[in-house]
Amino acid sequence: MSVRIRLFGSLCDLTKGRYLFEIDPGVNQTIKDCVERLGVPHTEVSFITLNGEFVDFSRIVRDGETYFVYPETDLPIVDSFLVSPKFRGEPRFVLDIHLGKLAKLLRIFGIYAEYGLLDDGDIVDRGVSTGYIILTKDRKLLMRKDVKYGYVVRNDEPQRQFEEVYRRYKLWLWFKPFTRCLVCNGEIVEVEKRMVEGKVPIRVFESNEKFGVCSSCGKIYWPGTHYERMEVLVSRYIR
Ligand SMILES: [Zn+2]
Repeated sequence: MSVRIRLFGSLCDLTKGRYLFEIDPGVNQTIKDCVERLGVPHTEVSFITLNGEFVDFSRIVRDGETYFVYPETDLPIVDSFLVSPKFRGEPRFVLDIHLGKLAKLLRIFGIYAEYGLLDDGDIVDRGVSTGYIILTKDRKLLMRKDVKYGYVVRNDEPQRQFEEVYRRYKLWLWFKPFTRCLVCNGEIVEVEKRMVEGKVPIRVFESNEKFGVCSSCGKIYWPGTHYERMEVLVSRYIR
């Protein structure tokens, strides 16, 4: 028994650039099983065709067939032909424990980024119960069948990781820079200056008029020197 699978676009990032596979899947295997066996989680696949027709993940593969497997796309394809649902609306993320720096970068831009769960099972549960997008370096985590939205972060360098997520989820549409706590992901609310008197160094109190407080952990924010560096970063990505 032999089945050919042709991967397209960004799916080949997950197979070291290889795009054509011939496998012996055994009897009664679905195309979903076959694709995941190549190391491509179902969350990465947008649609699949066989002889020019759309098929879904539950299709049992047969000897001699050739499947074309496609990543997330902007092509106007009817939802019922997609094997993974397209994420719509404001993206919110749950990140695995290896992506702390990426979480912080997302928060600078005001993007919701939960971080801190250690256990893979907890991350999956959180993503499934909330409908948030799981970001991970561990593709096995996204192969769990309950996972609906997820993305395997390809790069190791945080800024390049950010750029991947930025492009895939069109983050520029949702930017609200400096509105989210970098420590805990809570929302920063503006407060009157007198509210922070005695809680920040005198020099900071005297030289600033604007202050914000995290509504979740209470951390106080003001436009300091690190803020200027972040402004440069933010200006680079605003469209
Ligand atoms: Zn906070």
